[in-house]
Amino acid sequence: MKLNLQSFIVFSLSMLFFSCKSQSVVVNPNVEKNQLVADTTFVNLKDYSLDFVYDMKYATEDNFLKAQVYDCAECYLRYKTVQALIKANEAFMKEGLRIKLFDCYRPLDIQKRMWTIVSNPEYVADPAKGSIHNRGGAVDITLVNKRGKELKMGTDFDFFGPEAGHNFEDLSQKVKDNRALLKKVMLENGFNSFDSEWWHYNLKSGLKDKLSNQKWDCK
Ligand SMILES: [Zn+2]
Repeated sequence: MKLNLQSFIVFSLSMLFFSCKSQSVVVNPNVEKNQLVADTTFVNLKDYSLDFVYDMKYATEDNFLKAQVYDCAECYLRYKTVQALIKANEAFMKEGLRIKLFDCYRPLDIQKRMWTIVSNPEYVADPAKGSIHNRGGAVDITLVNKRGKELKMGTDFDFFGPEAGHNFEDLSQKVKDNRALLKKVMLENGFNSFDSEWWHYNLKSGLKDKLSNQKWDCK
């Protein structure tokens, strides 16, 4: 009996040790994160890839509003948008290029602030309807080469005129090729283009996600 009790204690202690040990196993935080995050959760792009270039125009006054409407420059998107964008960027990187981001998810309060500054639906989406940016499925982007130089796209970002449209013909062949490459790879990775803005892409599976006013912390 005594022997059995000792055996039981030794066995229990070893099980306790084993179970404590198994709980302390270090799990790859990225793998764990990928498993836990839902497709529609808002995440920060830089937590999933360090291969993007950023020029978040609305976190500065260097934009058509001439106003800073974000408190800090972060690129939040729904997780599924991040996944698709990373795949597109990997395809561009094989060509020696990278995606440069001008704008990502835009909380509704920011949309309202933009609408207050420029209340014209030709330039700013009416917050009553919202934009895919408010749903976390849109990005404004261009391409940069290995030296970080932007490829020629024919107009600046947020140039409002026919020259910014995909169907505008009076452009150099180089510009047409650059826009075509951007469009081809984005379409291959689940995005739609937007006829009047060469820089704007919507994730097809994100068009019906809810408008959001979720904010992020500026640290
Ligand atoms: Zn856009």
